[in-house]
Amino acid sequence: MAAMPFCNLCGKPATHTCGLCGKRVCGDHFDHKLGICSICKGGRRLATRRH
Ligand SMILES: [Zn+2]
Ligand SMILES: [Zn+2]
Repeated sequence: MAAMPFCNLCGKPATHTCGLCGKRVCGDHFDHKLGICSICKGGRRLATRRH
């Protein structure tokens, strides 16, 4: 198979590219509104705890 980009966060097939850092990420780790990855968005990975 051809080289396929994988999500930098979870390893699933990447379908999006972060507009800030250029990371390849999957749909779960991509914010469609902002066009950036969850890392750039939240600063940390999947920190779902609320303040
Ligand atoms: Zn992912
Ligand atoms: Zn990013």
